[in-house]
Amino acid sequence: MSKSPVRDGKSPSTEPLQPAAANGPSPAIMPTYARQNLVFESGSGSWLVSTKGERYLDFGSGVAVNALGHAHPKLVAALTEQAQKLWHTSNLYRVAGQERLAERLCQATFADKVFFCNSGAEACEGAIKLARRYHFASGHPERWRIVTFKGAFHGRTLATIAAAGNEKYLEGFGEPAPGFDLVPFGDQEAVEKAIGPETAAIMVEPVQGEGGVRVPPAKWLRALRDTCDRHGLLLVLDEVQSGMGRTGKLFAHEWEGITPDVMAIAKGIGGGFPVGAFLATDEAAKGMVAGTHGSTFGGNPLAMAVGNAVLDAVLEPGFLEQVQARGLRLKQELARLKDEHADAVEEVRGSGLLTGIKVKPPTADVVNACIAEKLLVVSAGENVVRLLPPLNVTDAEISDAMGRLSRALRRVANPKA
Ligand SMILES: *Cc1c(COP(=O)(O)O)cnc(C)c1O
Repeated sequence: MSKSPVRDGKSPSTEPLQPAAANGPSPAIMPTYARQNLVFESGSGSWLVSTKGERYLDFGSGVAVNALGHAHPKLVAALTEQAQKLWHTSNLYRVAGQERLAERLCQATFADKVFFCNSGAEACEGAIKLARRYHFASGHPERWRIVTFKGAFHGRTLATIAAAGNEKYLEGFGEPAPGFDLVPFGDQEAVEKAIGPETAAIMVEPVQGEGGVRVPPAKWLRALRDTCDRHGLLLVLDEVQSGMGRTGKLFAHEWEGITPDVMAIAKGIGGGFPVGAFLATDEAAKGMVAGTHGSTFGGNPLAMAVGNAVLDAVLEPGFLEQVQARGLRLKQELARLKDEHADAVEEVRGSGLLTGIKVKPPTADVVNACIAEKLLVVSAGENVVRLLPPLNVTDAEISDAMGRLSRALRRVANPKA
């Protein structure tokens, strides 16, 4: 298919188009997102400033990505310092920052080995490949199927949309990638029934984020761990959203006192710079020998400089305790809000600063009303509105956000007022 003629027959211009915010999204962007007509030009901590000069309180953090808020001085310094030295060399050579971050992540977790990539989907995809390859290397190439969960989100690649099984995301993209057995989240009986001689692994989010901030029943992760041990399966955790301090532990599975065999991470680990990774024990990673996987950009010096700086902050004594305290406070304030707005708020959900409210009006109405109050929040499944402030959010900002959310809910209940 040939390219359509240049618009209006004019020659392509290098001039920027007129101020983007004035006209709505550019037609040059593939419209796969229903975007808000908002453009931000700077940020600081929990705050963003739009091109119109308006300040927004950011309780979305770019979908749980800006773990330390915007323009954190230490992250800015780490990135700019590295930018002046070296950006990219490829994985044909050793990368010092990569080795450092991998060793630190291994020291802080169950893992012995790390592979760096650039996004959550890639991390999940790599974790899936690793799980299959483990059984191949163990002499069981027939064990390649993975038990996954309804309501899950693992990214938008062909394998990860098949793994999560959301019909909306699969439609029109051909036969879903095979090898995934979907069962209801939290249903241990269904898990046991889905396991057969071809099963390689169980892959699960400790808290479902996109699915609606769904916290599974207590001790369920433990049951999954036991099941994996009994059947020789790998337990693969997708901590892309729940990890890096979001729930008040470095990784959410720590709350259950278990360790996985494999873990996918991304989002918060780069604090806004694209970084992903999958981690595994030596045993689980035994099939990942030279030539089995790769990524041109994965773990490049810029990404690793920022990743190490984010980890510095999150591992600082008292940081995670503070996330727990802020998470508790946010939850208490949300519970109060629910009492005040019983007509609009059905339930408060979450763990740490991965929180949400299940609302009665359409989530889009609540999100839009929040924007009118200059508060940014993120919708999720099951009619949930997510509140994902930066991990270093202040108590004052939480109170401020509650005021805005309360006014937004009043707006939705009474649109003409
Ligand atoms: C966001 C997310 C992903 C996908 O990450 P991308 O960087 O968008 O590819 C995967 N798993 C979970 C749990 C997520 O929240």
